[in-house]
Formats: sequence, structure tokens, C-alpha cells
Amino acid sequence: MKKAVYPGTFDPVTNGHLDIIKRGSIIFDTLIVSVGRNPLKETLFSVKERMEMIRDHVREFKNVEVDCFDGMLVDYLKKQQTNIILRGIRTVSDFEYEFQRALTNRALSKEVETVFVMTSEQYSFLNSTLIREVVSLGGSVNQFVPPDVERRLKEKFKQMYRKNS
Ligand code: ADP
Repeated sequence: MKKAVYPGTFDPVTNGHLDIIKRGSIIFDTLIVSVGRNPLKETLFSVKERMEMIRDHVREFKNVEVDCFDGMLVDYLKKQQTNIILRGIRTVSDFEYEFQRALTNRALSKEVETVFVMTSEQYSFLNSTLIREVVSLGGSVNQFVPPDVERRLKEKFKQMYRKNS
């Protein structure tokens, strides 16, 4: 039984992430999509909200579970009893960053393997930061995220603007 963990910030989940989840669910017997709680990264959505948004879109994949973790990914892998990390690659610039992370994780725990999956080209330019920025400026992101994620983004910025005005 091959089990992998797909870790990320998912702030929020995009069609690009969902594409990687779908591909991962075909490769592995079990795929755990796990939202990282990173104290160095300020996020728009809470861990609970990010998990809810992912959960709503992975119901169709019977072998995909949604979880969260804090602390070191290598420790979380041990807890999940696997040594496989799944990550998505969009562009050449992703490669360098992902390569460093994969080697760091391997240095921290030598049995860890990172498996990279290429995104579909229509999602290759997508990232959560840009999506948050477009919505914060009043733009539409309906081709990049599921409708309920766009709705939550708009609601979040509305609340923020209300609080700050
Ligand atoms: P992190 O902060 O861990 O990089 P992200 O949520 O930004 O978290 O990304 C998680 C993983 O998903 C990374 O491997 C990233 O390369 C991948 N990813 C992000 N956006 C896309 C996309 N549009 N297509 C494919 N993979 C993506």
C-alpha cells in the first residue's frame, strides 16, 4: 500500500492544487492532503477554513484524506507512517525551491522521498498569492478556483475592509 502526504499552505486551495490532488490520487493508494501551520507565514484563512475548502472538493476521491500538521514535516510523515511527500511543480522557478526543500527533508530524515507531479499547463501560472491579490482588488478569479472558494475570498476581504474602515 503506497501512502503519500501532499503538504502545503493552501491559502486558499486552487484549481492547480486540485489538479495535483487528482493526479496523486491515481498514483497512490492513499493520499493525505495536509495543511501546514507555519508560524512564519501569515495566512488569510485559518487552518480550519483551509481544510474545509479542500475537503469540499476531494469528496469524489475515495482515497484522499484531509488533515493538518505543525512542526517538522518529517515528524508528521513518521506519524502518518509514510516516507513519501507529493509536491506540484509549475515552472522552472518552482524547481529550485522544491529541490532545496526535498534535499533538506532528506537530510533531516534519510528515508524520505519527494515525488513531483507536473501541473496541467493551464494552471502553471496559478498561485494562491496572486489569487488573493486579484480578489483584494475586486477582480474575478472564477477560472482559477472553485466558486465557493471565490465566494469565501470575497467575503474575507469584505470583512477586512469593514474592520479597517
Ligand atoms: P507551500 O507554501 O508549501 O509552497 P502552496 O500551497 O503554495 O504551499 O503549495 C503547495 C504545493 O502545491 C507546492 O508543491 C506547489 O508547488 C504546488 N502548487 C501550488 N500551486 C500549484 C499549481 N497552480 N499547480 C500545481 N501545483 C501547485
